[in-house]
Amino acid sequence: MLTFQQLASIVKGTLVQFVQELPVVHLLTDSRKLSQPTGSVFFAIKGKYNDGHKYLQQLYNQGVRAFVVEQGQPEELKLQYPEANILQVKDSLQALQKLAAWHRAQFNIPVLGITGSNGKTIVKEWLAQLLSPDELVVKSPRSYNSQLGVPLSVWQMEPNHSFAIFEAGVSQPGEMEKLQQVIQPTIGIFTNIGSAHDEGFISRQQKIEEKLKLFKNVELLFYCSDYEDLRNAVQTHKINAFTWSRKQQQADLHIKATTPAGHRTIVVYTYKGEKQRLAIPFTDEASIENALHCLAVLLYRNLPLAEIQDRLDRLHPIAMRLEMKEAINGCYLIDDTYNNDLGGLAIALDLLVNQPQRGSRTVILSDLLESGLPEEKLYAKVAELVQARGVERLIAIGPTISKYKNMFSLPATFYAATADFLKHFNSTEFRNEVILVKGARVFEFEKIVHAFQQKVHGTVLEVNLDALVHNLNFYRSKLAPDTKLMVMVKAFAYGSGSFEVANLLQFHRVDYLTVAYADEGVMLREHGITLPIMVMNPSADSFAKIKQYNLEPEIYSMELLRAFITSVEESATYKIHLKLDTGMHRLGFVHEDFNDLFTVLQQYPQVQVVSVFSHLAGADEALHNDYSQLQIAQFRQMAAEVEARLGSKVVKHILNSAGIVRFPEHQLDMVRLGIGLYGVEATGSEQEALRPVSVLKTTVSQVKNIRQGDTVGYSRKGVADADKTIATIAIGYADGYDRRFSNGVGHAILHGKRCPVIGNVCMDMCMIDVTGLPVKAGDEAILFGPQLTLVELAKSIGTIPYELLTNVSTRVKRVFFAE
Ligand SMILES: *Cc1c(COP(=O)(O)O)cnc(C)c1O
Repeated sequence: MLTFQQLASIVKGTLVQFVQELPVVHLLTDSRKLSQPTGSVFFAIKGKYNDGHKYLQQLYNQGVRAFVVEQGQPEELKLQYPEANILQVKDSLQALQKLAAWHRAQFNIPVLGITGSNGKTIVKEWLAQLLSPDELVVKSPRSYNSQLGVPLSVWQMEPNHSFAIFEAGVSQPGEMEKLQQVIQPTIGIFTNIGSAHDEGFISRQQKIEEKLKLFKNVELLFYCSDYEDLRNAVQTHKINAFTWSRKQQQADLHIKATTPAGHRTIVVYTYKGEKQRLAIPFTDEASIENALHCLAVLLYRNLPLAEIQDRLDRLHPIAMRLEMKEAINGCYLIDDTYNNDLGGLAIALDLLVNQPQRGSRTVILSDLLESGLPEEKLYAKVAELVQARGVERLIAIGPTISKYKNMFSLPATFYAATADFLKHFNSTEFRNEVILVKGARVFEFEKIVHAFQQKVHGTVLEVNLDALVHNLNFYRSKLAPDTKLMVMVKAFAYGSGSFEVANLLQFHRVDYLTVAYADEGVMLREHGITLPIMVMNPSADSFAKIKQYNLEPEIYSMELLRAFITSVEESATYKIHLKLDTGMHRLGFVHEDFNDLFTVLQQYPQVQVVSVFSHLAGADEALHNDYSQLQIAQFRQMAAEVEARLGSKVVKHILNSAGIVRFPEHQLDMVRLGIGLYGVEATGSEQEALRPVSVLKTTVSQVKNIRQGDTVGYSRKGVADADKTIATIAIGYADGYDRRFSNGVGHAILHGKRCPVIGNVCMDMCMIDVTGLPVKAGDEAILFGPQLTLVELAKSIGTIPYELLTNVSTRVKRVFFAE
């Protein structure tokens, strides 16, 4: 086992304090993920948005005794952490990478590195599954492919492993070289090269060159040589390659045809001069490409055709993702039923811990497959993880985990198989708790999820938490280092579901949240949100709740201020936010109010103005730039006067999402992010940089054929101009699907094709013209999402994306997912 002294000599740096020899087992980079103080080494990393050094004291108090730091005076560090080993380095992230690179170099097994624009995670997961009958595979958990994620992935390598698969992702030049040094791949896959413009790169060529650096020492690179510029680059660098191609017969694997056949695709190919055929269990282009990479690897490994087919058949077609949703009896489910390995389990448990005050924590867990560890060691680790994360009840399913019963000291029930659990399932035994359902595919835990499912109504709004984080970081990247970030979660977080979004924002350490009404704030508090919360429309009768729940009212008029102070107590203090009207003419004080305002405030020193702000009326339209500038100038002036009269500094803020993009020079102390977080760039100029967050989808209830001249729906508005096939889908205006989408204005996506609405939208349903498509009852229909954008839809009915998002009714189930 590696010791702290060895670590010190591997990463170099200065040993500020050495108290005693300690084992290096867990590499910790996020204070929230501490599970075992013994054996943990904390690397204090300075990131773009946070600084690990801020958490040293907290971790020390929790028992961590090994630190790698960049900052701090040696004498002070020793004084503050007298019992800890402390190593000081120039760059903690680099130290972590060096350590991981050293660890990697201890193994002499094939290490497959994967990069490319899309498909990295899926190809990695599939290959791990496809190779598992012959190899003990270690792989990156989820999409851990960053400067930080890669070293943590590589650290998982154990002596038993016979094969490693790690993915690498880069966002700017200079990064891949570091990842290459950590992964040291011996083989590679370059999945593809997207045309999408990447922020950090000046050209596609540069992007290819950067990514290729991962493969500078590989013995063999698998890639599709139909990407011409990629092929040229691979050839220029003389990288030994296994190519597959749909176009070039001289490729190692020539794909002659891919033909859809029901839910499968028949692939006809020639390999080593022989023509063969195989079926892959997918029909969409992206999955076919991903599967062909896997096929290339399997062929190269000389697996017999029948065996390849057998393994491909077992690939699961669903996207790998983790979902969170409401369940029966006030329970909340974290559904992670795609796979179950140690790295993934740790991540899912972190997520479980980050659902604060959701009652008790239960984990339903299957056997772990393909860990590469001896069983005994593996289940000891599982028990340690589960206990360290404060899990209160374990339901363990599978023959192997049951064998190691004795290792678990928490309340636990063991079942040999999923069916046994379901046979004994009694819904009343689960109440007001968070339940993590984590199982390997073969255990079919989706059946368990189904048993817990609450709303069975097929309409859902899927909210992509990764996209939310991406958008959050996009706006953060525009902020000066000291600018605070307030996020608007009013109106059910723009329809996206409130405490789930708030929770994520709390995890990512935004500074403030804002709701419209006090109830919304109360709800967030009851779900464990501890961030400061501003309430924009506090009414006199909500002040009691505001105080009780430590919410902070926006005060916009003398009446409101007077109402507020009638209830303040002498001994307490109260935080308020002053809203100024600079031209929106909605709410806010004007300059004439100032004398009264400050007279009252002086009488009530316990009422503290923490911020002063105003709102731009036309930040989204360039047309109004002059007006916005006037508003900003007036705000600056009024805010300066507020500070002068109060005799103290307050937080000043005026920019909304559009303002952040348009007026970066006026960030002041804080900005208020709204619609941008949810994927709509309100000025329109940087829409490409955001990711769509939500998908509204439903299912087909019935399909029917109608004749030319027949009519569809109320008022007989939908007239068939020819014989048609129509699908009735389970969404109507009561779900928030606007009636203005009637009669061909709106579309739904079925089988990947845009199909028009026919007739009027009804209350709970509407009809779609699906003529020519093999649609059947139960199929999915998408009403908005990446291929049918909110911006486009809003325009078609003369409204704005804000309205479409917030209209999605609460009866529509929200499902949150992360990739
Ligand atoms: C809703 C709101 C915002 C956020 O606006 P977006 O256009 O969604 O960014 C900011 N400030 C105030 C006062 C708001 O009401």
